[in-house]
Amino acid sequence: MLEYRRVCQQCGHAWYVDGATAQQHEWPMPKPIKNAMGGSPVAPVGRRRQQHRAQKAAIQSANISRWNAYAQHNASIQASRRCPACGSGNFQESIAVPRGWHPDPTGRFNRRWWNGVIWTDQVADPEGNQYMDPDGAPDTA
Ligand SMILES: [Zn+2]
Repeated sequence: MLEYRRVCQQCGHAWYVDGATAQQHEWPMPKPIKNAMGGSPVAPVGRRRQQHRAQKAAIQSANISRWNAYAQHNASIQASRRCPACGSGNFQESIAVPRGWHPDPTGRFNRRWWNGVIWTDQVADPEGNQYMDPDGAPDTA
């Protein structure tokens, strides 16, 4: 799965979102379900009146739960489009190199762990045995 790296233009904070989060869309506002019996000119009586009330309640609760799902979905999308540090919606997005074992850029070991942001001091030999680089993480400056 692709990861996206975002850098806040306001405070410089950098964070990651997965592709599914980065590409999700806001839902359109739901249209309320209409009550078919709502326009009846004759007031219902007896059993019909109870059915009428039950139907009204069912439609109302269906409409409210659809609205709540819509509001929650869009709120979570809007929250995911804000900087976690300062709340700014002004950020730059680029596709991140996913974290994982990649050929060691120092050339001293077979593989080195890229944590998605920087090279770490974790290294591995061709058999997959893992070590700590005694010299630490390579300078990336
Ligand atoms: Zn920020």
